Amino acid sequence: MGKRGREIVKLDVDELIGLLNKAFADEWLAYYQYWVGAQVAVGPMRGAVVAELMEHANDELRHAGMLVERIIQLGGDPLLTPETWYDETNCGYETPSDPSVKALLDQNIKGEQCAIDVYDKILKLTEGKDPVTYNMALEILEDEVEHEEDLQALVEDMMIAKDLY
Ligand code: FE
Ligand code: FE
Ligand code: MG
Repeated sequence: MGKRGREIVKLDVDELIGLLNKAFADEWLAYYQYWVGAQVAVGPMRGAVVAELMEHANDELRHAGMLVERIIQLGGDPLLTPETWYDETNCGYETPSDPSVKALLDQNIKGEQCAIDVYDKILKLTEGKDPVTYNMALEILEDEVEHEEDLQALVEDMMIAKDLY
């Protein structure tokens, strides 16, 4: 990376790159979990749920792009194989083997809660030490908080709809 750009990072850069790669693995797995969940989803409010899952899938892919850009800026190598996503992930992968919308929403809410913790941790680590990574993590955290809220709102709407029938 640019010499001065690296010098201003007041952290162990290799350790930071390791954390960013773990988040990068999470984002790819989250992307696929949302994307494939949207393909198989069945049940009430399917249209609204599928639209939300696909929107989130696209956001997770964008997050992976933001992370890889920062990893490379810091002079690191991004994870190059899907096998390593499983080795490095914080939040794992929940197989959507039950395609009911409620099960999919519950799995993805769990994933978002894990993502919120991951970026909260990166923010605490980089605060006052690496403003560029800090800003990136803040931008991603804002999306993850919105994702959790969107999914929980859908679950609540489904519960209300269920009572009406
Ligand atoms: Fe994300
Ligand atoms: Fe998310
Ligand atoms: Mg949304």
